[in-house]
Amino acid sequence: MTLIRPSRRDILKMATAAPMLGMAAPAIANIGGPDGNQPSHFRFTLGEARMTVVSDGYFTAPLSGVAVNADPEEVRAYLEAHFQLSENSVLNHTNHIVIELGDAKVLVDVGSGKRIYEDTTGNLLENMEAAGFAQEDITHVVLTHAHPDHVWGTRDDFDDVVFPDAEYIIGAFEHNYWMKPGLVDEVSEGFQQLVVGAVNSLTPIQEQLTMAEDGHEVAPGITMIASPGHTLGHMSLHIESKGEQLLVLADSSRRAFLNFEHPEWVGSVDMDADATVRSRKRLLDMAATDKMAVLGYHFPFPGVGNVVKEGGAYRFIPSLWRWE
Ligand SMILES: [Zn+2]
Repeated sequence: MTLIRPSRRDILKMATAAPMLGMAAPAIANIGGPDGNQPSHFRFTLGEARMTVVSDGYFTAPLSGVAVNADPEEVRAYLEAHFQLSENSVLNHTNHIVIELGDAKVLVDVGSGKRIYEDTTGNLLENMEAAGFAQEDITHVVLTHAHPDHVWGTRDDFDDVVFPDAEYIIGAFEHNYWMKPGLVDEVSEGFQQLVVGAVNSLTPIQEQLTMAEDGHEVAPGITMIASPGHTLGHMSLHIESKGEQLLVLADSSRRAFLNFEHPEWVGSVDMDADATVRSRKRLLDMAATDKMAVLGYHFPFPGVGNVVKEGGAYRFIPSLWRWE
């Protein structure tokens, strides 16, 4: 094959033409989907820990719920300018992680099963199998909070618990909030389904369940951090091995770019706005200061990156994939 080597004059000519080419190119907000299956896990190491991000799939959410305490036009403009808007909705990926450290194999959240977005979510078990994990391998399941996309997958279609040998761990406050007798009659009609779903998902795992407080050690090197706001007992996870650290943010920041640049913007599903912002900033500050990697549950797959602090805001820097 003959390589075409442009002359210096050609390069200068191309450089002058480039801005015009740039202007002519249409802005494409979203690339298309594949014709078939996607590889759905991503591996990396953190010290001696083997980490595997496994996807449960993805779902769309309405633009109107992304940031309810901001000017809707400003929110739309931000999402458009950052290629995050598709029609009037946004895409949410669902990035679970399996942490293998010492004797522990810890899975974070169980996804929605096939109970909400049948076509595009509920793929966790299948994707874990493809990544080489049997359901019996998992020693611990951490539940960050009891929203549908995180806990409705505790049982299969036959109502059997999907990780039969695991210890399930959830924040005590989170558990007691959703399991409070009579809660369903106290909340708005729209919220009732969330309560019923949480009760139905937490009931079958009661005998395997440990209630956690802030600082609960799941296994050596894996510690839970209270990060209330998105839900009232929401928890995140800190992992450390050989001096390397990662924070599982879960839903304390739901959008990789928008929640970093506008950490004060909260969504319609964030239950306590002030607490959401406080917890978000606290975790992003920790990550920026100590150069911890972060994983966002709804960030673009695989959702792993770093945090740079810029004044009162932050910037998300996706990690570079490695293959060796
Ligand atoms: Zn979520």
